[in-house]
Amino acid sequence: MFTRFRDARRLLGIFVLGLAACSEIGTPNPRLARGNFSTILIDPGHGGKDNGGTSGSRMPNALREKDLTLDTARRLQIRVQKAGFRVAMTRNDDRFIELDDRVAMANRRGAGTILVSIHYNATGNPSAHGVETYFWRADSHGLATRIERAVVSEAGQAYGGVIRRRLRLTRNPEIPCVLVECAYLTNPDDNRRAASPAFRERVAAAIADGIKEEYRLGDAGIPSVPELHAPLSKASDRYAEGWLKQIKNRCICGVFPLAAVVALSL
Ligand SMILES: [Zn+2]
Repeated sequence: MFTRFRDARRLLGIFVLGLAACSEIGTPNPRLARGNFSTILIDPGHGGKDNGGTSGSRMPNALREKDLTLDTARRLQIRVQKAGFRVAMTRNDDRFIELDDRVAMANRRGAGTILVSIHYNATGNPSAHGVETYFWRADSHGLATRIERAVVSEAGQAYGGVIRRRLRLTRNPEIPCVLVECAYLTNPDDNRRAASPAFRERVAAAIADGIKEEYRLGDAGIPSVPELHAPLSKASDRYAEGWLKQIKNRCICGVFPLAAVVALSL
């Protein structure tokens, strides 16, 4: 009876340790240290044949997302360049680029670069408004939080949330990455604001300030995020492949031997 209890305790130990290690799957660098990046890859969403969201005929201004993302990205580019960062753009004119190609650009740059993707939102619900900042990787939570806070306080946008979601551009890049939905083109107030170059300048300045703050402080003071596993956004997403690789590298090679040592000592 006693032996069975001990066996059960060992098994439980192995299970808990395995679970703890697997909780890091997909987030190999959970926290971003200060000064950990020197290059900003700015990604103006959509472009070319892909207009992105549009304002619709009932709004005060006819706006296309792809125009506003490029304009805001260029303003951001100037701001962060002035601050001393190296800057690259995924596009600098009205051209179509596949999402996977944007991800590839980020991954080619690798460590020392962060990706900031700029978007404007559109929905059938005209009351939806505000700025939302998306992230997936745990090491991007601080950057997302600081950008969201800055756009709210400096550009006067309503707080729409720091949202953890598996988007192609928040999950597949192997570097810290966030996606900012600056305003809703389909909300009358946000629509008026987004149409104003002065507003877009404030948004760009705020995003730049969020980036600068993250550079200065890293993730200090930012609460860690609970791991969660959301469904894939597209069948071709690489999650399964990456997950299997991580399992192989982390759980089988690293954790199970460790778990076995601990379990044997119980
Ligand atoms: Zn978009």
